[in-house]
Amino acid sequence: MINSFKNINKLQLIRVVYWLFLTYMVAAFIWWYVTLVNQNEQIAKVQFGVMQTNDPNLAQKTHAIADFQNRKNKQYLGEGLTILFLFLLGAIYVYRSLIKQLRYSNQQQNFMMAVTHELKTPIAITQLNIETLLKRNLDAEQQKKMLSVSLLETQRLDNLCNNILLASQLDMGAYQANTQEVDFSFLVEQTVQIFQNRFQDRKFTSNIASGVFIKGESVLLQLLINNLIDNAIKYAPLGGLIEIELLASNGIISLLVKDEGVGVAPADKDKIFEKFYRAGAEHTRSTKGTGLGLYLCKRIAIFHNAKISVAPNHPQGSIFSFTLKSN
Ligand code: ADP
Repeated sequence: MINSFKNINKLQLIRVVYWLFLTYMVAAFIWWYVTLVNQNEQIAKVQFGVMQTNDPNLAQKTHAIADFQNRKNKQYLGEGLTILFLFLLGAIYVYRSLIKQLRYSNQQQNFMMAVTHELKTPIAITQLNIETLLKRNLDAEQQKKMLSVSLLETQRLDNLCNNILLASQLDMGAYQANTQEVDFSFLVEQTVQIFQNRFQDRKFTSNIASGVFIKGESVLLQLLINNLIDNAIKYAPLGGLIEIELLASNGIISLLVKDEGVGVAPADKDKIFEKFYRAGAEHTRSTKGTGLGLYLCKRIAIFHNAKISVAPNHPQGSIFSFTLKSN
């Protein structure tokens, strides 16, 4: 958290220094232009001064000097504006790249902290539970409770590892896809069942059309469903309903995951699918995460020629939809 404050301050400092520098450069440039125009005027004045009043070509020469001064002024203005335009274009490009790079390294740092936390917590909980089971003579009910908590934590760990592995494989272009005809109805049904067993205190409903097949990669599709339902659990309160729908009509297949949680602000609608992006301020956020889940969902959607998007649920929450054309 301290690191993220430091980075915010660093970002602000860079912004201030950059804009001060840019303002100075533009002011110096304008000053240079004004000086050139003045100099041009001075030269014309000197040329007028040395002219003989009885010169028979006086009118012609006066006109030529004024004309030359005019042309020079226009040349300075044209060149000046072109250089200023190119300079500002370059400056904006550098500024945007710099801020993007800083944001990215900031997000990467947050990601590393989140991963460390996400990895350590399940390990610590499981370790503590196993130690307790070994040391104490607990009754069967208590043993079962401790084992199921440990199992839940191990499954969380497994999902996190899968996400991290897949993200790095995709980034390196090393992912070997194994495309085949996937029974999507079965995959969704099975995943919902697993989540229902894992989170018995949560309310799930599902409406899953049968016999929906997709030409795709079942490991990736499984990860997509896991991440969407996982988020619905994470970003919605305990009592809220989580609805999973699989529809197939008019040649379109849609998987909808609806929750009654905090929802996604319109400004974050697209950003949440970026790598490491997490909505809200780092220091006020209560949920832990890595910002990888939806990024992977997007990559998986692209891999299947599908679309993934989020819309508001009513009266509150979000609807994540994964849609594609049937074969
Ligand atoms: P993580 O959950 O690990 O932060 P994700 O990539 O899965 O990463 O999600 C990115 C961000 O999108 C989250 O940090 C959260 O702000 C937002 N988000 C994802 N799912 C939901 C949801 N169901 N409701 C509200 N916000 C969500």
